[in-house]
Amino acid sequence: MRNTRAIQPIFELAKAGRRGVVPPPCDVPTTLDEAIPAAFRSDVPPSLPEVAEPDVVRHFTCLSQLNMSVDTHFYPLGSCTMKYNPKRNERLASLPGILDLHPYQSEESLQGMLELLYSLQQMLGEIAGLDAVSLQPAAGAHGEMTALKCAAAYFRDQGRPRRKVLAPDSAHGTNPASAAVAGFEAVTVKSGPDGFVDLDDLKAKLDDETAVFMITNPNTLGIFEKNIRTIADMVHNVGGLLYLDGANMNAILGIARPGDFGADMMHYNPHKTFSGPHGGGGPGAGPIAVRDILAPYLPAPIVAFDGRRYRLDYDLPKSIGRVRSFFGNTGVLVRAYCYIRTYGPKGLREVSENAVLNANYLLSRVKHILPVGQGDRCMHEFVATASKIKAEKGVSAMDLAKRLLDYGYHAPTVYFPITVKESMMFEPTETESKETLDAFAETLFRITEEPAELLHEAPHTTPISRPDEVRAARSPQTSFPE
Ligand SMILES: *Cc1c(COP(=O)(O)O)cnc(C)c1O
Repeated sequence: MRNTRAIQPIFELAKAGRRGVVPPPCDVPTTLDEAIPAAFRSDVPPSLPEVAEPDVVRHFTCLSQLNMSVDTHFYPLGSCTMKYNPKRNERLASLPGILDLHPYQSEESLQGMLELLYSLQQMLGEIAGLDAVSLQPAAGAHGEMTALKCAAAYFRDQGRPRRKVLAPDSAHGTNPASAAVAGFEAVTVKSGPDGFVDLDDLKAKLDDETAVFMITNPNTLGIFEKNIRTIADMVHNVGGLLYLDGANMNAILGIARPGDFGADMMHYNPHKTFSGPHGGGGPGAGPIAVRDILAPYLPAPIVAFDGRRYRLDYDLPKSIGRVRSFFGNTGVLVRAYCYIRTYGPKGLREVSENAVLNANYLLSRVKHILPVGQGDRCMHEFVATASKIKAEKGVSAMDLAKRLLDYGYHAPTVYFPITVKESMMFEPTETESKETLDAFAETLFRITEEPAELLHEAPHTTPISRPDEVRAARSPQTSFPE
């Protein structure tokens, strides 16, 4: 009965809940037999190796350092906005008054947290230039799906369900995927050679079956869709809605508001824009902001304020329903709140200005070896191509990316967007110094001078060199062979 002590407190809590001290979360087991049936329990201790504490510490410390992270390496992974996670946000999010809250506490005892979430809703609405916000979605992609479901409910409510969701060929793969998950048919719109949405192709594909056009702006090539207002008008003229994929908000904070350039709904990626930690395959939050016409369909509850106290408003009869438990991922939301409050409106604008400045500086330093199709200027990121060096030396974008690992740099994003051959997408973010950008650019030149064979076999310093990525994704081997 070795496990009894560990789970005893849970039983106590559950019993207390049954006495009405804390509401019981759900059907919590109250005996060991209920929790873990006898057939699955062992009376024999597991056979674990005897190792001294320092050996264990060294083992796990070494393992932890095999990973690259923003805290240890420059990480210009385009599209992902790997900005620094300020450590004070971690401290603030760990304050006992925040960390020790339980979602089943009474609203009365959660007033502080509800106030924080309410003002985050307000701030995200203001940055978006849109009217209502839901903090529930658990990632950018989840936000896309949630907003599209709201759009579907809106069209159904008008007695005019619509079938199609359009997105440009440069869009992130989550856009068509979310369209499909939300029950729409995903239709691709072409981009022109300049990287902008091809307006003729958009015109040809817009009709009265078009529910939504999803656009990323600045787009995944790191350029601002200069025709955005025309695009918004074209979509609205057929009665459709414009969705802004907000993954690139780091380029336009305090400079341009999606609601002002015609978007009806958008998501934020707090881990890309508001310094939330990335990680674990699930970044944790993807709040959405919508125009007033879509507000009635947002997931319930929304945090509301009646001038005196904060409460969770479940009274949304047209809501699409919950998309996540409780109030969303409050851990990540608290960090986003701290970040926004720390910078304020002027500071957020400076964040974007510096993100754009850093990307343009890096572009100017690498463009003669890695040409940038979209010209000499970019927003917060740029897409270069290794086609030239591939033709001359047989060295691919993948070779360069892998060799960068040997020099202690995380690679840029390669082979995305798929519209550019041998693409390498650089996003330095605003938190990097000129010294770091210079050192990185110089390393890149140095690599291009190295023998091709050395690059084909890179990386040489990592425990595993080049796994078969397709096989690793399709049939992952998650344990070491015996
Ligand atoms: C990252 C990203 C997404 C998906 O966001 P997640 O938070 O990772 O789900 C969608 N679109 C674009 C353009 C992105 O860069």
